Amino acid sequence: MKGGIVEGLAEVREDLRSACKRSGRDEGDVKLIAVSKTFSAEAVREAIGEGQRVFGESRLQEAEGKLADVAEGIEWHFIGGVQRNKVRKILPLFEWVHGVDSLRLANTMDRTAADLGIVAKIFLQVDLAGEDSKGGYAPDVLHRELDDLSSMGNLEIGGLMTIPPATGDGGGSRRWFSELREFRDQLERNFKTSLPYLSMGMSGDYELAVEEGATHVRVGSAIFGRRNHKVRGESAGG
Ligand SMILES: *Cc1c(COP(=O)(O)O)cnc(C)c1O
Repeated sequence: MKGGIVEGLAEVREDLRSACKRSGRDEGDVKLIAVSKTFSAEAVREAIGEGQRVFGESRLQEAEGKLADVAEGIEWHFIGGVQRNKVRKILPLFEWVHGVDSLRLANTMDRTAADLGIVAKIFLQVDLAGEDSKGGYAPDVLHRELDDLSSMGNLEIGGLMTIPPATGDGGGSRRWFSELREFRDQLERNFKTSLPYLSMGMSGDYELAVEEGATHVRVGSAIFGRRNHKVRGESAGG
């Protein structure tokens, strides 16, 4: 089928390869998260059939049924906003949680992870443009709280995540991607810590994100097709 998941996935993979080549990066250093929100378990299985093993969902309720319906051995990333009262359900299902943006939430995750006997692997979401609507740490607040966050024994902080302001063509995202990388570098220097991962880039701008250092790109519609309805917390233009 022309324009289907098989083609979409092949195209995105090819784009990622080219972007890695252009920027002198190793293909293996960029992980493609196929964002399957609003799409069926069947769509996920089709992508799995093409060798895709990493998927992203942004709403717990929608994800629960889908995860139960899909083969094991899949790495799921929770990429939506996280409500504290959902943490106990999210942690056992998702390998990584991308939207952590407060000490309070991090505390809940740390304590819950301890209860569950696991380490919660997280990305700290950063709001570089000061867009309150999307969630995310203001950079100065994160700078202030990173010591406390790092001291939590049941959290592993993989790195930073951002959702840049929507622009018509996606080209405007580059600036935010390079800012996120620079902010990460600054945190690593100031705190003598390691934040290896940068989760940035969606369907309209994943190539730019790779050129600017993304290690995780979150791509939905370029693989699965247009979504029929918006998901709460989703960026405009997504
Ligand atoms: C929906 C969503 C994506 C994927 O968006 P596309 O434009 O469909 O690629 C990526 N990240 C987050 C946080 C999302 O909510």
